[in-house]
Order: sequence, then C-alpha cells, then structure tokens
Amino acid sequence: MKIGIPKEITVGETRVAVIPAMISVFTKDEHEVLVQSGAGDEASFFDSEYESAGATVVKGAAELYGESDIVIKFQAPIENTDLGKHEIDLMKDAAILVSSLPPRTHAELIPKLLKRNITTFAMEYLPRITKAQSMDVLSSMSTVAGYKAVLVAAYHLGKFFPLLMTAAGTIPPVTALILGAGVAGLQAIATAKRLGAKVEAFDPRPVVQEQIESLGARFIAMPMQEDVETSGGYAKAQSDAFLKQEQEVIAARLPNVDAVVTTAQIFGKPAPVLITEEMVKLMHPGSVIVDLAVADGGNCELARPGETVEKYGVTIFGAANIASSLPVHASQMHSKNLATLFKYIFTSSDDGIDYDDEIVKGMLITRNGEVVNDMVKQTLK
Ligand code: NAD
Repeated sequence: MKIGIPKEITVGETRVAVIPAMISVFTKDEHEVLVQSGAGDEASFFDSEYESAGATVVKGAAELYGESDIVIKFQAPIENTDLGKHEIDLMKDAAILVSSLPPRTHAELIPKLLKRNITTFAMEYLPRITKAQSMDVLSSMSTVAGYKAVLVAAYHLGKFFPLLMTAAGTIPPVTALILGAGVAGLQAIATAKRLGAKVEAFDPRPVVQEQIESLGARFIAMPMQEDVETSGGYAKAQSDAFLKQEQEVIAARLPNVDAVVTTAQIFGKPAPVLITEEMVKLMHPGSVIVDLAVADGGNCELARPGETVEKYGVTIFGAANIASSLPVHASQMHSKNLATLFKYIFTSSDDGIDYDDEIVKGMLITRNGEVVNDMVKQTLK
C-alpha cells in the first residue's frame, strides 16, 4: 500500500501527522510512504530527513492524495483553495482516511466521504480502553494543550507564578483555577504546580477528586452531586440546576484567583458555560482566563476562537488548536500514536483489517458507501 502524509492546510496548523523517525514503522511489510514536500517544515522536520528515513517526497497535494491508498493526517479534511477541490475529492476512490473528524464536521464531511466510497477511521471515536491508550491522539493533544494553556496564562499575567523572596520584598504565589480535570485539566494542574502556583480545580466526575488532590491541588467541593460519568469515561451533559450551582461555586472563587484555565467538554455537544460575562466582572483587573473549550462554544461566554479579548480588565484567550503551538512534540506524540494504531489495524485478518475488532469497530465511521458507526449515525439525525 501507499501511505500518504499530506501537508496540513488548516489555517494555523503547524503539526505533521508522521515525523521522519516513525517512517520505518510504516514502511515495514513493503508499504511505501509518500510525504508531501514541506509537510513537516513548520514542525522542523524537513524533506531531506523524510527521504533519509525511506519516504518518497512528492511535490504537491494533488499527487499525494491521488496516489495514496491510505491518507494519514491531523486535521479533518477541508477545501484546498489553491486547487479548488476538497481534500476528500483529491483522494483516490475507495481509499482509506485516518484523521480527526470532530462531530461538528460530520454534516459537511460524511456525505463527501460516502460519495467517494472512503473508508474512514476517526481519532475521536477510538475507544477509551486500556488497550487503546497508546493510540489515543486525543489524550496526547490534551496533554499538550493543558501544558501550553498554563504557559499562555503565565505569559499574559503581569505576575510571577511562584512565591519569591527577594531583596525587593516577598511576592506571594498566584492562585490558578482549573475547571475540568480530564487529561488537559490534570496536565494544566501539574504545570501550574511546577511553576509554583497555588492550584484549585473542579470536575463533576467523582473519580477525579483524588486525581486532583494527588497533584497537590485543592478540590473545590460542590454541594450538589450528579451522576455524570459515561461508561466511556467522558462526562455527560449536566442539568441546568447543576450548572447554575457550579457557576455560583466558581463565582465565589473568582475574586481570589489570578489565572483560570477551562477545559470542560461534553463529547459531541457544546461545551458548558461555566463563566458568564457577569462572572468575569468579579475577577481582579489583570487576571487571565484561557479557554481550551472555545472551539466547541467555550466555557467562558466572552472567549472567541483564536482571539485575545480584553474585557473588564481581564484577558480572555480563546485557545483554539493550541496544541499546534508546540508542533515538535505534538507531531512526535501523534506519530507514535498513529504508528501503534497502524500496526494494530493493518495486521490482523485476510484483507488486513479485522472489522469485528473493538478498536476498529469503534473508530470506523464510513465503509462501502455507508455510515457504519452508531454514534455518528445519531449525530446525523
Ligand atoms: P474531555 O476533554 O471530553 O473533557 C474534559 C473534562 O471536562 C472531563 O474531565 C469532564 O469530566 C470535564 N467536564 C465536563 N463538564 C464539566 C463541567 N460542567 N465542569 C467542569 N468540568 C467538566 O475529556 P478527556 O480529558 O478527554 O477524558 C476524560 C477522562 O476519560 C479522563 O480523565 C480519563 O479518565 C478517561 N480517558 C481514558 C482513556 C483510556 O482509557 N484509553 C483515554 C483518555 C481519557
């Protein structure tokens, strides 16, 4: 098979799906890897390194997509305005696509994938089971995002994070509030702690309290409890009453915090609003909010994707696709996840794919001109 690694064309995207060091995993079993020229440039992985690693560098997107049996990419396919064609329409008929496919893109992309008879594997639907952890791109990118969000907060804040005892006086540590303590939130807590902040955090899934406390942060208790964990490890949408109380609890903390990182998400649904415009007014001037859920509507009412909003003296950074601001390690982690996934998917039964396998079944979205994933069928209704 020919495996194609295109250059990502989404605005602001700097990552590449597979780095040179991982090419040898894909070229085993006589597969050939095609890399679009310049695909790794922005992540500091250059054409010559891909060639040395055994890949063939091809000039443009038309050639790359047109020759590949499998396309492995980071971002969901989009229109290639230079070529006047959608990336899906550049693919070979009945080729295989392995990429991100967020639920918000389904209505537009699924009909195109069906029309071209593409077999699609979407990273968002990888089952969250122990066996699949080493393939989990979402976790990898959340790790990057949680880390970088705290650095962005520190950059915008006019204060030191740690306690400093200097000849010019003692400076107390800042207080950071992390909302949502999944993969990104836990990484944000760990990073803020490493920088010396006092950290507080909240997540409605009960199992998370212990994880927050084990990182040395204070868990913010909520009087009301709701059964919010799905069997897949995600949070379910909470009731209006729960969210109202959560906002009250957060509002009580906001006058005392310097930096807030919000990471709260509900898979396939808009992100819950945790900080309203009125609540922003409660913060001290000079405080910072970094909203990692902004692409799904945002946890802070004032956050805008990719923008830095200044309101009531507070800086609100809408951290859309923040993982691409750390392209070297983000690409490295993605490559490792994809290499593990590739070896897993394309080694089992006769035609190379065991369609009854739990991981394959979970992330397979379209095949033979049909939507085969039940969760995706629901999103299209
Ligand atoms: P996510 O990105 O979908 O959501 C981020 C966090 O937001 C979650 O912890 C969620 O509980 C929280 N949240 C939702 N509503 C909230 C609200 N109103 N207020 C505050 N927080 C809210 O989730 P994620 O980080 O990708 O994963 C969640 C969990 O899934 C992880 O903590 C982990 O336990 C599990 N997981 C398992 C695997 C695996 O086993 N392979 C892989 C990844 C994650």
